[in-house]
Amino acid sequence: MSSTSSSQNSCDIAIIGAGQAALQTIASLKSGGFDGSITLIGDEAYLPYQRPPLSKKFLNGTFERDRLFLKPDNFYGDNDINVLLDTQVTQLDVTAKSLTCANGAGITFSKAVICTGSRPRALPIPGNELENIFDLRTIADIEAMRPHFKQGAKMVVVGGGYIGLETAASARQLGVEVTVVEAAERVLARVTKPELSAFFHKLHLDQGVEIITGAQVSGFTGEVNVSAVTLNDGTLVPADLVVLGIGIVPNSELAEDAGLTIDDGIVVDALGRTSRADIYAAGDCTNHPNDLLGRRLRLESVPNAIDQGKAVASDILGAPVSYAAIPWFWSDQFESKLQIAGLSDTADSHCLRGSYESGSFAIFHFAGSQLVCVEAVNRPAEFMASRQLIKEAAAGRVYETEMLTDENLKPKSWLAS
Ligand SMILES: Cc1cc2nc3c(=O)[nH]c(=O)nc-3n(C[C@H](O)[C@H](O)[C@H](O)COP(=O)(O)OP(=O)(O)OC[C@H]3O[C@@H](n4cnc5c(N)ncnc54)[C@H](O)[C@@H]3O)c2cc1C
Repeated sequence: MSSTSSSQNSCDIAIIGAGQAALQTIASLKSGGFDGSITLIGDEAYLPYQRPPLSKKFLNGTFERDRLFLKPDNFYGDNDINVLLDTQVTQLDVTAKSLTCANGAGITFSKAVICTGSRPRALPIPGNELENIFDLRTIADIEAMRPHFKQGAKMVVVGGGYIGLETAASARQLGVEVTVVEAAERVLARVTKPELSAFFHKLHLDQGVEIITGAQVSGFTGEVNVSAVTLNDGTLVPADLVVLGIGIVPNSELAEDAGLTIDDGIVVDALGRTSRADIYAAGDCTNHPNDLLGRRLRLESVPNAIDQGKAVASDILGAPVSYAAIPWFWSDQFESKLQIAGLSDTADSHCLRGSYESGSFAIFHFAGSQLVCVEAVNRPAEFMASRQLIKEAAAGRVYETEMLTDENLKPKSWLAS
């Protein structure tokens, strides 16, 4: 299945990057009856797998590695997909319609789909070359860090975003002593409003995680292995291991070098078409329009990768269906399941259903009178209804806060029939 041949390959569809968006594109092409040749090229050693469990159940050891893979091995052979793993695409020529790989292999194609995802943001500070400092993006990252997750080991997580907090929770569940260092004044500051930040901050404190906010990490100290993290006020936080969770950057350089339009990601339309004919892109690496929200977005989420993969396949199949969805996300930390629909960045007011103290609530965020986002913790019914509510709100429907907060009314009853 995997090959490192340096010969010239030719295919109808070349898919660059073997992750979530790539797999969805292939699955949708195949279920839509596509019978041309497909070559999938990925620079990791693995067939496409899901990343969300990496910082959650795979990290705390309650999710087997085999369950990460999006399709069984035989899917690729059965569907005649030519898979090249451990193979990095280093050049894309959109005029010649060819790819060059790091191992010298060349591939020509009729259409290409760029699904290169994103990579962890680097932290170029003194000491970052020390051992036991880990990124969290791949199976390989987890397998490298997990042996260090021992009872009483000291771990510093740099970054209090979703991935940092999930990592903190998973490690804490294994008895690791965890300190989260966050540069902003509150955790989750980039993605949510203060109320939810406060809830998760307290949740982690209650579980024994230490959180330091408003602090920049200025360096790492140690001989071979890291032994402490230095903060900008001079504080030394002892560490046997460090996990970096300071955000991601889209892998758009290949596309940029090929002359495609880039603007915080590879610019695509609602069908995943880039600025060059026959070159598509999907997933974390893209910047796409969202007609429901009336603006462009770059999203880092599984639903986005799936929906864009479907849109790309639909266009290749000649039955285009544009991507237009209310964004949604989730995060699991300790016993709290957070599900978010919509984006809260434009919100200026909110109302609460349930209570923070009970650990079961939904926050409804409004921009003016328009419902734009729902953050639900251990409230699946509210979350289920919320995407439809936000879609209807975008079309002009206004919701009374009394209706949303009345626990006697079931979430289903909110929906227009
Ligand atoms: C730890 C973690 C937890 C997450 N949790 C959630 C969650 O709870 N909910 C959620 O919705 N999302 C979550 N995400 C985000 C989600 O996993 C991503 O949004 C999704 O994987 C994006 O899919 P993609 O196909 O765009 O990129 P990826 O799945 O990252 O795949 C891209 C692949 O392309 C490869 N590649 C890059 N450049 C090249 C090249 N030049 N040649 C060959 N191959 C290349 C990359 O190495 C990678 O294997 C999480 C991510 C991480 C890392």
